[in-house]
Amino acid sequence: MNIQTKAVHSGDRKQPQKQIPVATPVHFAASWVCSDQAEQDRIFAAEEKGFAYSRYHNPTNEALEELITSLENGAGALACASGMAALQHSLMAALLDRRRKVLCARDVYGATIKLLMDVLGPFGVETTFVDTGDLAAVERAMEEEKPGVLLLETISNPLLRVSDLPALAALCRKQGTALVVDNTFASPLLVRPLEMGAHIVVHSSTKYLGGHGDTLGGLIVSDEEHLEAVRRLSRIVGPVMGPMECFLTMRGIKTFPLRVERQCRNAQGLAAWLRQQPGVERVYYPDDPQHPDAEVVSRLLPDGLFGGMVSFELKNAQSKEGAFEFLDRLKLIVKATSLGDVHTMVLYPWISSHRDVSPKQKQRMGIRENLIRLSVGIEALDDLVADVAQALA
Ligand SMILES: *Cc1c(COP(=O)(O)O)cnc(C)c1O
Repeated sequence: MNIQTKAVHSGDRKQPQKQIPVATPVHFAASWVCSDQAEQDRIFAAEEKGFAYSRYHNPTNEALEELITSLENGAGALACASGMAALQHSLMAALLDRRRKVLCARDVYGATIKLLMDVLGPFGVETTFVDTGDLAAVERAMEEEKPGVLLLETISNPLLRVSDLPALAALCRKQGTALVVDNTFASPLLVRPLEMGAHIVVHSSTKYLGGHGDTLGGLIVSDEEHLEAVRRLSRIVGPVMGPMECFLTMRGIKTFPLRVERQCRNAQGLAAWLRQQPGVERVYYPDDPQHPDAEVVSRLLPDGLFGGMVSFELKNAQSKEGAFEFLDRLKLIVKATSLGDVHTMVLYPWISSHRDVSPKQKQRMGIRENLIRLSVGIEALDDLVADVAQALA
């Protein structure tokens, strides 16, 4: 079945009742009553599938988990309270019986670096960073570090590098390293990392999957090998998404293929227009034939779908003050720190996502003081162009 069809059908209308509600109800119950003690005994022993307590299983959560499992072609899923909770949980599940070492892509989400250094670090997890665009460097680091996990993002933030997932997965499988992929920026419409050899996929569903800027959430989709650990640890810790958020996320997902297609088209149009502007020094968008990963892009991304993120450097505003002036002139585009919503959003990495990165490190990463990141929405392209044009003028 195609992803557009799965997005609206998977997970819903599952109840074995005669009259089936068209949408999955929001089950707020914390616990369930069994018909007799023997049944409860079988459920606690996991001999029978059923509901006992919402930290273990909840029908609304289960519907969303079935939906995302189907979209990513995984073995099973866990819906978590946030993208960060999902990342932490998946790393713990993957490291459970592996060396407590993480090899992490250099250009990941800022909080992901903090999770590794400030949360998992004190518990004995060592992290080294590598440029995942350089396969030889990854191979060397894998041999030296023998990491338990390789962690990376399908499309990186904010310079939109695209990782060669099949090649990296092959390296991981040779070494027994688990490949954990944050697929937030690509969404399963563009890339499904489990099909390319990844072990665990994580989403901040707050972004493209939820899509409306109204629901925080994270999703873990696992292969068969790691699913037991993901579910077993969650039974104990309970980093789970609330049922109302599961309902909202599921409602969002039904239209995500439509939204993301439109966002990709708008982003490509805006990137093309930006390249023509004298006030713009450089545009970062994966459809560029000069893109450093152009060959990987042509293999991994579907025809004409290069993602909804566009970054660019201002020519006449090399300083923070100049960038502020440009940003303050924007009227329609929303100045907020998220992405993937139906409305277009702008973010200034220098003071937000990369604020705590040292100037030297920023220079090495290519994050300049005139760099602007756009998450393109579903508006009419003309209106977006007009807003950026008046702010550039
Ligand atoms: C937002 C984001 C996260 C964190 O997700 P939350 O839902 O905010 O916890 C992780 N990775 C990426 C790539 C993100 O954009």
